[in-house]
Amino acid sequence: MTTQLTVEARAILLDIEGTIGPASFITHDLVDYARDRFDEFIATNRQSPAVRQILSETVKRSGRQDAVAMLKDWLVRDEKVQPLKELQSLIWQHGYADGTLQGRLFADAQSAIEIWHAERLPIYVYSSFSVKAQRLFFGHTEAGDLRHWFAGHFDTSIGAKVVARSYEKIAGEIRLRPQDVVYFADTSAELAAAVRAGVQVVQVAKETKSANSRYPVIDDFSLVDIRRPADRLGAAHFPPVGEART
Ligand SMILES: [Mg+2]
Repeated sequence: MTTQLTVEARAILLDIEGTIGPASFITHDLVDYARDRFDEFIATNRQSPAVRQILSETVKRSGRQDAVAMLKDWLVRDEKVQPLKELQSLIWQHGYADGTLQGRLFADAQSAIEIWHAERLPIYVYSSFSVKAQRLFFGHTEAGDLRHWFAGHFDTSIGAKVVARSYEKIAGEIRLRPQDVVYFADTSAELAAAVRAGVQVVQVAKETKSANSRYPVIDDFSLVDIRRPADRLGAAHFPPVGEART
């Protein structure tokens, strides 16, 4: 059991996998979905401009002439390489559009995000999931289209999740000091990187045990209360409204 936690912050940064949604959805459902439909998708869409672009990027990146075979190897090994991510997003787009795929959030995380949004706390997402895949995910959840809850999205094009500089850059992008941002994630290595950048962190231990966490830890989002820090200058530092650049 974890206890009630109060955090003073001006913006919230969220990991997806294992934090606000089940890791199994991404590591199994989505990866399996793309793998199962890979051959059919390539056969049907090989001549489309988007797929041709992915194939030529694959050749350029790998040096291997058989781009389809290279992509398939990456897919089987679940390699986080850009051309594969692009292709997976295209395949997922079909699955989301026809309702086969639906983004899944933990109920308590979803309620908390809804409340923070209503309180006008800016909420950002930082995931190894591409920004495009994040928007597909939030655009087609079991609870409908939740994209309007988020002020912006970041993926690993800004830097790796275990590197402090990535969190400094995100704070810079959203025009806040690192200490005014609180990052929620399940993985200790990510939390450690955020801490090195000066970002506040909360470890979410829903699917993982973290009895000896070095960080404030919750297993239920209803336990966390986020307040804006009292501003001695009396001026609010709201980030700009709209999409964060990544
Ligand atoms: Mg995670």
